[in-house]
Amino acid sequence: MERYDYEESDPSLSMENDASTQQTQSHPSVAYIHSQDFEMHLNKHPRLHGTVTVTHNLIRAYQLLDHVTVIPPSFATVEELKSFHSEEYIDFLKKINELSEEELIEEVEEEEIEKYGIGYDCPFIPHIFDAASMIGGATITAAKALLSGKYHVAVNWGGGWHHAKKDQADGFCYVNDIVLGILHLLQKYKRVLYVDLDLHHGDGVEEAFAHTSRVLCFSVHKNERGFYPGTGLLNDIGYGKGRYYTINVPLLDGIQDSQYIELIIPLLSKTQKKFQPDIVVCQCGADTLAGDPFASFNLTLKAPAECMKLFKSWNIPLLALGGGGYNAVNTARCWTYLLSLLLDKTVESDIPDHKYLMKYGPDYEIQICPRTMPNRNSIEHLKSITDTILKNIDYIQGPYSGIAGS
Ligand SMILES: [Zn+2]
Repeated sequence: MERYDYEESDPSLSMENDASTQQTQSHPSVAYIHSQDFEMHLNKHPRLHGTVTVTHNLIRAYQLLDHVTVIPPSFATVEELKSFHSEEYIDFLKKINELSEEELIEEVEEEEIEKYGIGYDCPFIPHIFDAASMIGGATITAAKALLSGKYHVAVNWGGGWHHAKKDQADGFCYVNDIVLGILHLLQKYKRVLYVDLDLHHGDGVEEAFAHTSRVLCFSVHKNERGFYPGTGLLNDIGYGKGRYYTINVPLLDGIQDSQYIELIIPLLSKTQKKFQPDIVVCQCGADTLAGDPFASFNLTLKAPAECMKLFKSWNIPLLALGGGGYNAVNTARCWTYLLSLLLDKTVESDIPDHKYLMKYGPDYEIQICPRTMPNRNSIEHLKSITDTILKNIDYIQGPYSGIAGS
């Protein structure tokens, strides 16, 4: 398997560096999952605002596509979808696949539609089964690329649908591509570290793996009264053999880069040392960034970038997925920048001329500035989170401790 080294002093990892400082070094082989068809299915979702299209165009404008292997996603088979989702839910999506919205209302009982979570947050879209099967299939395609041993990193910015449950759609998500991808990875990798950086708790993934010690779910998210999905409390640490293999970092509004980095990086580092994962899967939801309509966290690109640099330093395979992010250009900035880090490529500060350039005004730069907003995370609050989690991490067993995986 190809390996690469991470050096903290590498100038190509700095956003401020000019493109002329690009180094000619061997790059990790990166699989980038994308196709026009995939974009078409994603763009049917009214809540996504074409984010993946905007991102893909920025990645292309920065000429990063020259350094990746673009792999078009395959549709997931019914059997693959049913490896996590219930037979009745997948059969329901199949049943309504060919219907128009009018036909759905006429032909299908309202109760049945509601039972499977199709409604406001997960609106009916034409060819819903095809879309779900491509979304699931894209992350499975990424997982298979890693399993082949040809790639050390796989990136699927159209993935990261962490809320979908076994038997229903939830929180914009029709299918849980992350769970489907991880189930594939478990065929080869003994221990998977799943890190969820989205503003919302990664409830669907946590629920799927809460009872196992082979997948450790580490989710950093907002948890305030009434905020969706309401799960992911500090004391939610998994069950049975999976006890201590769920880590939740619930934060309050207004957190900034420096606090976030000082909190998360040591926790992730200790988790990695104790758990010793064979692979890391990261959901890179960008709804934590300053300027997102959720207006909750106040992060810039620096916070997710520090996490990505840490993953690189572990020198294990990495699957990077998208997720939330409702300010399309900021999300595109974030995912493009993260890809540049994975490729050890410098990106110029100025957004290159391309189809969507005008959307990046008024500054037309890749950086994001924090907003002026109150920070509700006190030092005491964060310290109590750190103390609790560090104690819990001590209970995590290494792979050779005699504890069998489940
Ligand atoms: Zn989110």
